[in-house]
Amino acid sequence: MKLWVNGALHDEADARFSVLDHGLTVGDGVFETVKAVRGDTFALTLHLERLTRSARGLGLPDPDHDEIRRACAAVLEANPVELGRLRITYTGGVSPLGSERGEAGPGLVVALGATQRRPDTTAVVTVPWTRNERGALVGLKTTSYAENVVALARAHAAGASEALFANTRDRLCEGTGSNVFVVLGGRVHTPPVASGCLAGITRALAIEWTGAEETDLPMDVLDEADEVFLTSTLRDVQGVHRIDGREPAGAPGPVTAKAMRVFEERAAADTDPRL
Ligand code: PLP
Repeated sequence: MKLWVNGALHDEADARFSVLDHGLTVGDGVFETVKAVRGDTFALTLHLERLTRSARGLGLPDPDHDEIRRACAAVLEANPVELGRLRITYTGGVSPLGSERGEAGPGLVVALGATQRRPDTTAVVTVPWTRNERGALVGLKTTSYAENVVALARAHAAGASEALFANTRDRLCEGTGSNVFVVLGGRVHTPPVASGCLAGITRALAIEWTGAEETDLPMDVLDEADEVFLTSTLRDVQGVHRIDGREPAGAPGPVTAKAMRVFEERAAADTDPRL
């Protein structure tokens, strides 16, 4: 595997990144996961825009989009995969222990992992921990993801692939790495960004392409919903067939199936200059 570290492509075994990078020591970094299909990125422009928003939220200098585009192209060319996930990590950079960010400038790593198409449906659990919709990091895709790691472990222990959070007001928020949609009486709803969820790129496209509404939803909407589905870069649109052990009607239901079809067609057409 070849990956990009701070300006150049390296063999993974020779790549060097300081153990004193602020991203590693205190989680002072931001990231994006970008889907790549046969060497082509999907929605890279939208991911770069979000990376910049996240970096600004942490007070990091704006990332160099040109370098990241070159890095993504170089990594994809060096590691041909059918379906892959590019991981762009942009950090606070090297700083002596106990100090603020160093002066050496931010760190950048672009790596690639092969991935597989997700099943059409999956099981989810809800977790007792909350997303803080008024927290300092809300809406930023930072490398401080340990809360998600813990929640995802809970999901995996229950045979599910995703864990759903409420926010501090017990409103439906999002998954550890996905946004959530519910179908009620034929209409599609998803929590607003004010719920504390990440402004998912797949979520935004799904809202636009399916006409979903942003609605503040109580947690128990999950008991009443006709259908539930998830969106994320790696799941695209994925139906939910089990929530905390309960099985909603056959999944993917008709509205989810249509959303999956529309998403796949629009994404494959790739005629949207933003993508
Ligand atoms: N919510 C969280 C917390 C995430 O980490 C992600 C993606 O990793 C998403 C939602 C979905 O966002 P996207 O569709 O941009 O992948």
